[in-house]
Order: sequence, then structure tokens, then C-alpha cells
Amino acid sequence: MNRKIIHCDCDCFFAAIEIRDDPALEGLPVAVGGDPGKRGVIATCNYEARKYGVHSAMASASARRLCPDLIIIPPSKNKYGEASRQMHSIFKDYTSLVEPLSLDEAFLDVSNSKKCKGSATLIAAEIRQRVREEMQITLSAGIAPNKFLAKVASDWNKPDGQFVITPDKVSDFIASLNVRKIYGVGKVTATKMYNLGIENCQDLQVYSQAELLNLFGSFGERLYSLCRGIDDRPVVTEHPRKSISVELTYNNDLPSLKHCIAELPVLLDKLEQRIHRSNRQVSIGKLFVKLKFTDFISTTVEQVNQELNLHVFEQLCQTGYERRNKPVRLLGLGIRLREALNFYQLPLDFDDHVATSKVYLT
Ligand SMILES: [Mg+2]
Repeated sequence: MNRKIIHCDCDCFFAAIEIRDDPALEGLPVAVGGDPGKRGVIATCNYEARKYGVHSAMASASARRLCPDLIIIPPSKNKYGEASRQMHSIFKDYTSLVEPLSLDEAFLDVSNSKKCKGSATLIAAEIRQRVREEMQITLSAGIAPNKFLAKVASDWNKPDGQFVITPDKVSDFIASLNVRKIYGVGKVTATKMYNLGIENCQDLQVYSQAELLNLFGSFGERLYSLCRGIDDRPVVTEHPRKSISVELTYNNDLPSLKHCIAELPVLLDKLEQRIHRSNRQVSIGKLFVKLKFTDFISTTVEQVNQELNLHVFEQLCQTGYERRNKPVRLLGLGIRLREALNFYQLPLDFDDHVATSKVYLT
């Protein structure tokens, strides 16, 4: 049976909320993010700011250099959470199968919805209209037979648009789709593909599953399906928590390994508190340390371990540090939960907003 999946994604969510609440900002380049003087990071910006090359996850100071008139608004978490709840309650009017990906993004499985005569296209249009009227912000939607294609489709007519890929259009659509649009294909994999002469999904379809496994490791198996537009993952209403972590961005770079090691007890303390606050039986599978260097390149080192252990964190920190031997702007410590180790990892860009906001909110 063909499923009907809608991927909903607000346009410049945080910035849109701020502009809605202060109409004087309309038409000006606006970003939500941390203080440029305190090494803040841009979480979201509007399209006027994007014209200058400003984008999310960029240092606020660099954004300001690109666009001297950029208005940078500090994030107001509560407001975004409230808007997110309001939007999710609209989603719930159409289906109980809603999978949140971040505050402003979700998959909806409307295969069995009776709303709008059962038309996913009409449901998406109605949701967009309601979000516009009830919340005064805009949302883009992608409609397709699976999550992968729905996610690609929501980006197709962004902002304030929607795009439908009906089952009979899948093979044409996927054939010309650039490999960079496949989630899981980052810069490194894409470069490897381009070097092999692979640019779009049609080029990938030539390879057998064994060849793809050979070329791209365990990801090859998923690639084989995705490049054919196949993605059977269900819409799951609750994600099992996969990890618990804390991180800190320092006002001044930590200049050496010794300085990083000295910060670990404080972070470990915070991590223990966070685990405690999560109020659940936690079964630790791995420990990890994340370092982001002065040049914004990050690395994560992890090790199988069943309990919190400062000495292990120190060793991981050393391994990570020695990968670049450069001053460190951000340190993070975390645990991966045992029951979750085998779950399919969500691609990073799904968590972008959360990840970047964590950087300056902690
Ligand atoms: Mg969004």
C-alpha cells in the first residue's frame, strides 16, 4: 500500500517568530543567535540576511562582518517552545502519527486520515494556511510516499511553498536528484561520488548492492534503497533518547590539552546532574567527548564503557585533542544509551537548530 507522508518545516522559524512579534523588523536582515562579542553562533536567519551569505551555525561575528546591518536577536526559548506546541496541536488535528524532528519540523503520516477527503496535498495546504492564519508564520511542506522523499520535497518550493511527489512520479524524480540531497551523504561521501562520476541517483542505480557496500561501507545498503526512492522507515511518534550530553563554548579558547583536561570535572558534574534530571533508569553504553577547535572543525571520540569515569573522559579528550593540536573553543561530554546504540542515527541536519542553540544556551 502506498503511504502518504507529509514533511512540515517552518521557514526561518526563530527569526520568523521574532519578526512576527516586532513588525518593525519586517524587510530587514534579521538573525537569532548569540552575541558576536561573546562568540555566539547564528541559529536561524531570514532570507534578507541570507542574501549576504549569512547562514545558521555560523559565528555571529562572521555574520556581522558579512552583513554589518544584521540585527541579531538573542533567542527566547520559551517563545519558540510555545509556538512549537501550537503548531504540533494543528498537526494533531489531521493525524495522531506525528514524528517531531525539531521544534519546527515534523513528519506526518496521513495515509489513513479522513480529513480533506483523504488528500495529502489538500491536508498540507490546509495546515499551511492554518499556520499562516493562527500563528502568522509560514511553513513549507513536502508530500511523498515516504520520509526521505517528503523531506526532499519540503525544500523544493521553500519558502512558503509545497511540493508533491506522487508514487507514479517517484522514479522520474529520483533519477535526476543530486546525490547531495540524500541524507547521510555529506561533503566527504559526495566528493567520493563525484570522483567516481556519480552526480545523481540515476548514476548510483548502476551499482549493485555489493558494489555500494564495498565503496561506502555499511551505508551502501541504505544507499541502494534511497537512490531508488525507497525508504520504508515508519513515522514514529516518539524517539527513544539516544544520548545525554552537555557542552560549553568558552569565551576564550582553551589553549592546550592541559587546559581542556582541567575543564573535564566541571563538565562531568553537569553531565551527572543532567542524567539525574532525566529521571530515568539510564544504561550507559558508551562515553564520548566532543571538541570543537578554534577553526570550527569538531571531532568526537567515544569508547564503550558502562559507567561515568573521569579517567576515560581524559583519555578520550587527549585522543580528540591530538587529532588537531589546536586551541579548543567548545568541549562536550556525553553518554550514549545502551538500548539505543543500534537505532538508526538521524542525520545531523535534523538536529541543527537544537545543536546550535545548545551551543550558546548552555
Ligand atoms: Mg525549519
